[in-house]
Amino acid sequence: MRTQIGIVGAGPAGLVLAHLLHLHGIESVVVETRSRKYIEERVRAGLLEQGTVNLLIETGVGERLQRECLTHHGIELRFNRRGHRIDFDALTGGKTVTIYAQHEVIKDLVAARLAAGLPLILEAENVSVHGLNSASPSIRFRMAGEEQEVHCDYIAGCDGFHGICRPSIPDGVLTEFERVYPFGWLGILAKAPPSSEELVYNYHERGFALLTMRTREISRLYLQVPHDEDINSWPDDRIWSELRLRTAVDGDWKLNEGPIFQKNIAPMRSYVVEPMQYGKMFLAGDAAHIVPPTGAKGLNLAVADVRIMAQAFAEFYATGKTHLLENYSQKCLRRVWKAQRFSWWMTSMLHRFDTDNAFDQRRQLAELDYVTSSRAAMTTLAENYVGLPWD
Ligand SMILES: Cc1cc2nc3c(=O)[nH]c(=O)nc-3n(C[C@H](O)[C@H](O)[C@H](O)COP(=O)(O)OP(=O)(O)OC[C@H]3O[C@@H](n4cnc5c(N)ncnc54)[C@H](O)[C@@H]3O)c2cc1C
Repeated sequence: MRTQIGIVGAGPAGLVLAHLLHLHGIESVVVETRSRKYIEERVRAGLLEQGTVNLLIETGVGERLQRECLTHHGIELRFNRRGHRIDFDALTGGKTVTIYAQHEVIKDLVAARLAAGLPLILEAENVSVHGLNSASPSIRFRMAGEEQEVHCDYIAGCDGFHGICRPSIPDGVLTEFERVYPFGWLGILAKAPPSSEELVYNYHERGFALLTMRTREISRLYLQVPHDEDINSWPDDRIWSELRLRTAVDGDWKLNEGPIFQKNIAPMRSYVVEPMQYGKMFLAGDAAHIVPPTGAKGLNLAVADVRIMAQAFAEFYATGKTHLLENYSQKCLRRVWKAQRFSWWMTSMLHRFDTDNAFDQRRQLAELDYVTSSRAAMTTLAENYVGLPWD
């Protein structure tokens, strides 16, 4: 097989890239290890920045999103039993964020790709990349017992944090930057209408909790837990009782409860590799960087990366110029590090750390007080949360 861009991974990064390349008239083949059912049901992110939403709508894959999404104009920070709203409309000149699950985005992109009759290879085994410094790099894999090879001009490594693209780069080329947090998020999906119209970030002496949602009928709720926590030690009753404690607020607000139908614990990590390129291979999304989910930036960063990558490939195929490809890593990293800073800051402000002492707790409360009372501080939070400009 021969194509222009070989894409490893059919997550948000790989599928959005394939879609944008198609609109530029550039051929691609997407190679993914998992099945269609698996990628369309994998529960992950749920909050899209305005830029991500605009891109999906403008490129023709936002029709269902527009019909089914929930638009949010702010968030609440809750501490000391009081809620404080950060009003995005007023602070950012009318920008909003959108609730629409990552796996719904994936369904829309897979449907668009298959409807256009474009190659999406699923359930590939033993995927590997070769000739990264050659004129014709390739992706090899096993399919129905047969070895296959896709030769291409360039490879896009969109295979997430545990993929094979980043580890295929020779030792000594990449520099890694990492912070691992001593806690994770226990996340649940529950058949219960959201208890609040907008997301509620709760700082509590027992640990952080987040109230969010997937639809008007389904709540998505998170609790900070130790990083090595066993999910079996969290029966449903314990989860609800802990959520009630950490989200308690003065007044007549009540936590809506219902049957829990999905639960898992996700570790928290900040991670970046530099550069996001080696030879003919470009990394995007979680393959190159991970953020703790507190700022809801992971999926949005993946989309921002591949938008830049698609523009660079478009310039190359239209003019032969490699200027944008050469600047890809530098351009992405400028935005990636700002999202890293914001995600780290939100995480540090809202979570209890193992080393917490009374000083740190007072300092965190003072910061929350400042962030919810100074217009300048609220604006800083709001403009980062809705998403910094792409260019
Ligand atoms: C449990 C969890 C909860 C999250 N919650 C949030 C949230 O609330 N908000 C937010 O913004 N972000 C969240 N994230 C992060 C967000 O989901 C990711 O940033 C986003 O999925 C990144 O997209 P991606 O395409 O780069 O990588 P991925 O979504 O990881 O996609 C990579 C794809 O590559 C495939 N693959 C892997 N190895 C290979 C291989 N060898 N060959 C071929 N294919 C391969 C994988 O199967 C996968 O389909 C969460 C992540 C997790 C794990």
